[in-house]
Amino acid sequence: MHYSPARRGHPAPAGGTWRNWAGTATATPARWAKPRTEAEISAAVNGAAATGLRVRAPGSGHSFTPAAVTDGLALDLSGWTGIVAADTRTGVVTVRSGTTLRALNTALDGLGLAMANLGDIDAQTVAGALSTGTHGTGARLGGLATQAEAFGLVLADGSPVTCSAAERPDLFAAARVGLGALGVISTVTLRCVPAFTLVADERPEPVEEVIERFDTLAAQNDHFEFYWFPYGRNALVKRNNRQPAGETAAARGARPMPGWRRFWEFEVMENAGFGALCRLGRAAPRFIPSLNRFSSAALSSRSYTDTSHRVFVTPRRVRFVESEYAVPRESLADVLAELRRAVPRLADPVMFPVEVRVAAADDIWLSTAYGRDTAYVAIHQYTGLPYQAYFDAFESIAGEVAGRPHWGKMHSLDAGRLRALYPRFDDFRRVRAEVDPEARFGNAYLDRVLG
Ligand SMILES: Cc1cc2nc3c(=O)[nH]c(=O)nc-3n(C[C@H](O)[C@H](O)[C@H](O)COP(=O)(O)OP(=O)(O)OC[C@H]3O[C@@H](n4cnc5c(N)ncnc54)[C@H](O)[C@@H]3O)c2cc1C
Repeated sequence: MHYSPARRGHPAPAGGTWRNWAGTATATPARWAKPRTEAEISAAVNGAAATGLRVRAPGSGHSFTPAAVTDGLALDLSGWTGIVAADTRTGVVTVRSGTTLRALNTALDGLGLAMANLGDIDAQTVAGALSTGTHGTGARLGGLATQAEAFGLVLADGSPVTCSAAERPDLFAAARVGLGALGVISTVTLRCVPAFTLVADERPEPVEEVIERFDTLAAQNDHFEFYWFPYGRNALVKRNNRQPAGETAAARGARPMPGWRRFWEFEVMENAGFGALCRLGRAAPRFIPSLNRFSSAALSSRSYTDTSHRVFVTPRRVRFVESEYAVPRESLADVLAELRRAVPRLADPVMFPVEVRVAAADDIWLSTAYGRDTAYVAIHQYTGLPYQAYFDAFESIAGEVAGRPHWGKMHSLDAGRLRALYPRFDDFRRVRAEVDPEARFGNAYLDRVLG
């Protein structure tokens, strides 16, 4: 999906109101700037400091939380894009921070490289995706931030710095999932992998059996996940496995879904068709459980092979709100059992499926997978339908097992509760106080989650 400045979820023209993709956050910044060089980013930060304005750089506005909101200076980095340097031998690629994942994936294709793992969509900017801990799925893989090797940052005093494991290691440890709190990310250096194809296998299976075999399924597949409609019996199980590396998708034996079938499956069935069911459910909520069971029963199998990002990423045109918690892998079955008990007791029925994914433990200070193998449980509701009681119930279920909320998805936790969940929370705050003592890059969301 291409975003022009006038469209929702991307910087508005100077003076305009900014709105995120889900419509859950709006902002009317005092000023907009559209820097096209690192020097212009520095000048904009210095200019804001001189007039006492706080600064945020919204990405593509795909966070459900007001992470990107500012009433100060908003930096539109949509003119600061593209690859700066690439070493096809090592896979190390430096990219400007406003580049979308979609543009990055296309550029990497041309270099015979790819991101090792990706989430469900590619509309996010590289910096925005990393800043909130965006992840895909894979029991042996981490989120996008685990693929970051270095950052170029413009700090609160306007100075450009670089950081990596070897250079300013604490700043790097904090910036890998930095919430936009440390400075403006100007460049991201990523360790990419040789381009690869994925064999995708998607099929409905009874949800009880999937939960029972979860550990085996996660271990047996490179990228394993499932969706489950809360009133249905079936889960849609996705097993994506890697083919050995080769030069081109064709040489690697890709059997992509034909164009007409891709259009039918993704645009008609998953977007237009599902969107129509959602609108019906919103107009007549008492039918939602039946519509949900219908969606569950209508799940179909498909199998295809394609370039990795064409398998990871699917179009999401039906708008929704979302909350996601990272829970210890061993707690997943209990969390899902509680959730399955809670949903039928809700006064307002749930239209959208629950998504379950996995990630390996990592060592990134504010990563939701810090120090533990993780299962991600994401709940959604169709836009315009009541969701608060559902999200509250889920939050308290996840809270019982020390669940950590995705920084970009809806939750109500504050610094007091988050500190107990992140062993390096105070280290993050220390680094922030060192590089941004006046909280130039603060906003109301950071005031809540960082204190
Ligand atoms: C339809 C949909 C599907 C999604 N799928 C997934 C998924 O599969 N996995 C997952 O983990 N998440 C997913 N998300 C969440 C999404 O990946 C994150 O919220 C991500 O942060 C959005 O990136 P963005 O570019 O839109 O950034 P924004 O939401 O605009 O901003 C996020 C944060 O990054 C900061 N930021 C952006 N650019 C810079 C910069 N240059 N310097 C400093 N700070 C910066 C912003 O200030 C803000 O704090 C999804 C969201 C939607 C709407």
